[in-house]
Amino acid sequence: MRIDVFTIFPDLVEHFCSGSLLGRARHHGALDLRVHDLRSATTDPRRSVDDVPYGGGAGMVLMPGPLFDAVELVEPPRPLFLLGPGGRRLDQEVVEELASTETSAPGGFSLLCGRYEGVDQRVADHLVDGELSIGDYVLAGGESAAVVVIEAVTRLLPGVLGNEASARDESFRSGLLEYPQYTRPGDFRGWEVPGILRQGDHGRIERWRRAMALRRTLEQRPDLVEARGGLTDEERRLLEAVEREVVEEPGRDGQGA
Ligand code: SAH
Repeated sequence: MRIDVFTIFPDLVEHFCSGSLLGRARHHGALDLRVHDLRSATTDPRRSVDDVPYGGGAGMVLMPGPLFDAVELVEPPRPLFLLGPGGRRLDQEVVEELASTETSAPGGFSLLCGRYEGVDQRVADHLVDGELSIGDYVLAGGESAAVVVIEAVTRLLPGVLGNEASARDESFRSGLLEYPQYTRPGDFRGWEVPGILRQGDHGRIERWRRAMALRRTLEQRPDLVEARGGLTDEERRLLEAVEREVVEEPGRDGQGA
């Protein structure tokens, strides 16, 4: 998967994308990340990329010239997305769409980071293919948004997580949050791991996890449950049955496990 990023702060993006999962994915070749300096095609001694806004107002705006030049010099993989608060909101569905560009020829996509007050509208109108937002708040620049996109997409690429199942089961995959996870110790400061998880009955564990994913989503993100059209009768029955079992469970307090 190739991802090209255009920014006036290439070091910010490079630094974040050199360690941990992203660093490994680049090292092993799953991710071909290319970070380009938006100043690379400037010819004036100050290498300017910004100017005051037409019509007045605070701050500076990135000029179209250097941005078009930098992109045209590289001819990056498309779609090319401008990062900005007005774009399509990133969620796991969008992330999966972006990850699937891996299989299209030439494979990949590109990101353009704004700064200051933003970019000249003609960049949005005539250079990029779309706009992406990471949420309804305003950042100082698109670099942190770019690394959010890159990390979320890269962890879905084949071979990157090591354990393919961890990407398959997690939050949002079925319109639900993930079930709660526990690790050792079984008793931490008197807070016990649910007994069911320690009894080795994989069928029961599976049922419990599905029920907990439902309950957690109902409690924490009812909007997600609503978006998938509520719970099915089967899910409602499962939730009730598992909650009843857990109440009657001898290992509920850790004693039976
Ligand atoms: N004046 C603009 C905000 C500019 S913020 C406005 O009111 O809409 C500067 C840059 O940060 C933007 O050009 C964009 O690239 C980036 N940015 C800010 N918020 C963002 C968000 N929620 N998602 C993605 N990029 C964002």
